Amino acid sequence: MLRLIIRSSDIHAAGCFTLENISKGTRILEYTGERVTKLEGNNRYEGRPFTYLFGVGDGEVVIDGHGMAMFVNHSCNPNCETDEIEDRVYIIALRDIAAGEELTYDYWLYDGDEDDEAACHCDSKRCRGSMYSPEELRKRRRAAAKKKKQQAKTSTQGKKASRSR
Ligand SMILES: [Zn+2]
Repeated sequence: MLRLIIRSSDIHAAGCFTLENISKGTRILEYTGERVTKLEGNNRYEGRPFTYLFGVGDGEVVIDGHGMAMFVNHSCNPNCETDEIEDRVYIIALRDIAAGEELTYDYWLYDGDEDDEAACHCDSKRCRGSMYSPEELRKRRRAAAKKKKQQAKTSTQGKKASRSR
């Protein structure tokens, strides 16, 4: 068992730090917790600004995180990745990690609430500004543009209506 600690993080609230060197490819932690349906998971976190849900397989089942792994913060330039191995989710070192470093992985979020920006403060050079996956960001930009267009249309119709009065 690797020696890890939870302490305050510059990225977000608390983070998970390693007290020893970790070599690339090491399975550091398992993302443990109760497995529930996506619907049940969303109900549990309704109205809360964060979740500890981790989608597995096709995303219909989520792990409601409980344990050390849920403290691992997001970074757009992470030192870990997650991988599903025989139906279990592990946080694995992407590179050699030195003692004292904070562990991070790319959350690659999807299916967020419309008004939730999931802002990222990882400060890496390649920061996307958000914890959403690039695909989810494209989807959200398209949805926002569509909404804007519809609003513009509605206001034009409004003007026409008032003129014809
Ligand atoms: Zn970032």
